[in-house]
This record gives sequence, C-alpha cells and structure tokens, in this order.
Amino acid sequence: MTDADPSATSPDQSIAEAVAGGLPAAVADLGDLVRIPSVSWPAFDPAFVAQSADAVAELLRGTGVFDSVEVKRAQKAGFPEGELGHPAVLATRAARGGKPTVLLYAHHDVQPPGDEAGWQTKPFEPTVVGDRLYGRGAADDKAGVVSHVAAIRALAEAVAGAGSELELGLAVFIEGEEEHGSHSFVNFLEDNRDALAADVIIVADSDNWDTETPNLTVALRGACAFNLTVSTLGHASHSGMWGGAAPDAMLATIKLLSTLWDENGSVAVPGLASHDAGTPDFDEAELRASAALIDGVSPIGTGSVLSRLWFQPSITVTGIDAPSIANASNTLSPQVTVRLSMRVAPGQTSDDARDALVAHLRANAPFGARLEFHDFEGGDPFLVDTRGWAVAAAKQAMADAWGTAPVEAGIGGSIPFIADLVRVFPEAQILVTGVEDPDTRAHSPNESLHLGVFKRAILSEALLLGRLNAG
Ligand SMILES: [Zn+2]
Repeated sequence: MTDADPSATSPDQSIAEAVAGGLPAAVADLGDLVRIPSVSWPAFDPAFVAQSADAVAELLRGTGVFDSVEVKRAQKAGFPEGELGHPAVLATRAARGGKPTVLLYAHHDVQPPGDEAGWQTKPFEPTVVGDRLYGRGAADDKAGVVSHVAAIRALAEAVAGAGSELELGLAVFIEGEEEHGSHSFVNFLEDNRDALAADVIIVADSDNWDTETPNLTVALRGACAFNLTVSTLGHASHSGMWGGAAPDAMLATIKLLSTLWDENGSVAVPGLASHDAGTPDFDEAELRASAALIDGVSPIGTGSVLSRLWFQPSITVTGIDAPSIANASNTLSPQVTVRLSMRVAPGQTSDDARDALVAHLRANAPFGARLEFHDFEGGDPFLVDTRGWAVAAAKQAMADAWGTAPVEAGIGGSIPFIADLVRVFPEAQILVTGVEDPDTRAHSPNESLHLGVFKRAILSEALLLGRLNAG
C-alpha cells in the first residue's frame, strides 16, 4: 500500500510512466502505418492492405506478449466461393491464473483520400501541425490500432518493472476491410471463434465528446436503405394532352414521400421505435454551426437535440432517378425511383424497421400507384447494457486517465459489425471507445488525430488492462 511506503510506485503510476515514455514510439509507429495507403476499396491496390496487415502483425509481435500472431483472411459472405476479404491480423495469448480475456478490435484499412486538392498536407505523409497529426488513417483507425499496441507495451513494461506477471488473456483482431463493408467479418468471427472468445471486447473505432472529455459509446443507431420504384403509367405521355387526369409517377412519389414526416420533420411512420434515455445538453447553436444550417432554416424533430440524433429514427431521401432538368420535356413521367435511407433507433432491429417502413409506403401509395422495393441494405443498432462490471471499470479508467468522467454517448451513425460481435459473442461485455474528436474529419480531407487524445486513450486502456490483470 502506498500509505505504508509513500516512495513506492503504484501500479497505476508505473503504467502512466510507461505510457508517457512510450508515446514518441507510438506516434512514430502510427506515422509508419499512415505511410502505407491501405485503402480497402476495390479500385485501389490491395497489396497496400496486405503490407499494412504485415506491419501491424510486426508491431504486435514486438510487444512480446503473444503466443501467436497471424495474418489471416476469410471468405466474403454472399460472394463466390474462394473470394476472400482483405487480410486481418489476429494475435492471441491465453489467460493464466483465472484472469479474464480481453479482445481488442481496430481496423488497419482506410478510406480513399478523396480530392487531394482538399488536403493541406499529403494524405499519406504523416504531418504534425500544432497538437494534431494529419494523414488518412491518422485517426480512423490506425490510431485505434496503435493505441492497443501502445497500451499493451505499457502494461508489459509496468508488469515486468514490478517483477510480477502478465496473466491477463488477450486477443487482438485488426480488421482489413472495415471501410468497405466488412464483407468477411462474420466468417472471420466464425472461423476464429475460439481464438476471439473473450470476457470483454474493446472496439476502438469511435469518437470522444471533445479533446478534454472522453466518450464511452453506449448506443449506435442502425441503418436500413433501399430503392423504391413508383410506377403509374405504361409509358410517358404529353403533359398537355393528359396532365390533370392521368397521374404521373412524380406526383405519386411526392405525395407518398410527404407522408413519411410530420409538420416538424419528425418521422411519422407507425411501427418505428424510439429509444427512451436521457442525453447531455447540446446547444441548438452548435447544431446550426456543425450541420451548416443556413440563416432562417430551423432544425427538425422534437425532443432534445441529441435524442433526435442518437435515439430517434430518421429517414432521408438520398437519391432520385427521374428525368434531369436538361431532359425535362413536357411529359408525364411513368416511373420514378428514389433511394430511401433510414437510421434505426437502438432497441429495434433493422429488419423490423424496414418492414414498418415498407408497410407504411404500401398503405399510403396514392392513386393505386405500383410500388417495387429493391437493393436492400441494413445493419442493426446497438445498445450497451451499462450495468456490467466492465463498463464501470472502463469508466473509472477513463476518468483517471482524462481527469474527467466520460460521457455515455450515443452515435447517430452506424457500426453494423458491432451487432455481429454481440450476436457471435453474446456473453462478452462490449466497450466502444475511440481516438477521434469533433475535429477529426474521418473520411474527409485533412483527417487528423489530436495527440493529447491519443495519449489519454492509450492511458485509459492501459489502466483498464492493468487493473484487470491485477484484479
Ligand atoms: Zn473506423
């Protein structure tokens, strides 16, 4: 105990020192990963994703704590036999002495750089400006990868320094195609079920409240999207001859779509659920600024701003196939296709929400218009049971590392693979953490990582792992 010997270093202190000492190496390792343009999209060279997987495997081997480190691939679900996903990295060490096993997840692939003219630094040249490191993947999610590596290094160093033993079980799964649909994710889980089995899963691929306040992400909305084709006529007709008596497909589509929202802009589809939970304050002015509402335009929805973003469904028309203005002859359109994109509240499955929306559309089709639905995509929402011991331990570690209690946050976007993790490993407690902050601009030009956030994220994870190892 420290009261007996005030000069003795506590385990938490040793870990904090090891994290601080290891930070320059962590930033350098992160820079090396950023230099590998591991874009997982089909138009980009997959050799870079393989190179990035090898580099990550090397970093994990270098920690010296794993029984096995492998680069592995799995069959893509729904693709022809033999079509494998991009290489992932799997590292494992067995638990000793009855200690728990923790699975650490991140992904080493990145989004395309996008318009290079929009970048102020080279996308694949890691560049520190002020307290931020710029580059594609500098945050999403190569910083997640390196935060796991750095936390493990710090833990191993602190444990060795104290002359004790690392008994904690660890599994690390670094995916190679998160940015392009995670097509082999479920098969990878099934193929490696025993190696990945854990008491706690830490997914380091989310956001923080700001650079001084951590998030523990406890809710994610799901997603559901499909194309809807509305047909009213067998062929186009002259709008002067038949307009006013024959219903055109655009009229039917506009009337049908207008039934999806009430006068506040809230979703008005029976059967779509909302989640009921409190939210932190979020200023309407911040919403106006962040989402760039132009002067005179009011926000939509009801309830607290964050409940609208985290806990209520939303529906957006994201595309319309209809005659372009350049081709706008004076005709009645026989057919219009729209893409509908829905965010699904935590607590409802994506399939349920889709069924409710399709039933509503069918029930409201004007003039007997014919509706066809196609190109479905979906992913379930996610809600953490925050009563588990791992949530309490993670919140304590974050509070100690950041000096501020974490926000239990929702995310309006979706990480569909988390629902797959919960399904394959129902016993595991899932902690969704991250290295991003509101200025990160993941997926956009000028993506960056705040180096203070990086350090505190590493420290949070190292403290948590250290306590689980000692506990
Ligand atoms: Zn990510």
